[in-house]
Amino acid sequence: MVRINCAFKLLVAQCLFLLCSSQDFDFFYFVQQWPASYCDSRRSCCYPTTGKPAEDFSIHGLWPNYNSGQWPHDCDREASLEESQISDLKSKMEKDWPTLACPSADGMKFWGHEWSKHGTCSSLRQHAYFEAALNLKHKANLLQRLADAGIRPGKFYTLKELKHAMQEGVGHEPYIECNVDPEGNHQLYQVYLCVDTSGSNIVDCPVFPHGRGCGSRIEFPLFSSDLDSNLSLNWRGEL
Ligand code: 5GP
Ligand code: 5GP
Repeated sequence: MVRINCAFKLLVAQCLFLLCSSQDFDFFYFVQQWPASYCDSRRSCCYPTTGKPAEDFSIHGLWPNYNSGQWPHDCDREASLEESQISDLKSKMEKDWPTLACPSADGMKFWGHEWSKHGTCSSLRQHAYFEAALNLKHKANLLQRLADAGIRPGKFYTLKELKHAMQEGVGHEPYIECNVDPEGNHQLYQVYLCVDTSGSNIVDCPVFPHGRGCGSRIEFPLFSSDLDSNLSLNWRGEL
């Protein structure tokens, strides 16, 4: 009797473990933003309190998704991001996952939002979730992939040129999202890559997002200025 009882408890514990740790999604979108376009799409932006970000793609988020195109969000409304869990990643996150929203901030609010909305559905713990995104940024190495194809900020390109350069380098087709700047130019805004549910491997996208098209002529805008990088100034220099 005691034996049966123990075996039953073990079975329940195993079931609970499987239930809690199973991934209820099909793949991740790993989304990176081009900072100059983020600033142009909002007509202004603010540098993080930690300083002006480098002219490079930066992480927006790692988002669980279903093959249907639907996506889960806010899977645990109780769970908030604990700074102590990611303290060893913070300097890398300041560099690779800066916040450009106003008012200037140190990133915790942005990262906390991404964790609550998307990370809680990832079945990864906080540290593993943020570390996975940082590793993916280096794996994708988008700016270098574009440079290898002769594509540099400050010029216009076709969607085909941008996609081809990224696909050649990364090995998988990206989804490119554009915004429109105040002069009416389409700009390279965000790049979506798909990642398997472990959060480690870039894979072919089962489905692409829709409805965020680009024109035929796409600006890859410069993100450089003479502003003091240690000050959290508005992108256009307004106070
Ligand atoms: P927007 O409406 O600006 O395209 O998206 C707003 C936010 O909704 C995004 O920043 C992201 O948090 C979420 N979102 C939009 N589209 C998708 C999607 O296709 N998959 C997932 N997982 N989240 C999305
Ligand atoms: P999502 O669109 O992912 O649901 O929400 C992004 C949230 O994070 C928004 O409230 C936005 O204001 C804030 N945020 C802070 N910094 C950034 C940034 O650099 N890029 C983006 N896309 N959103 C940011």
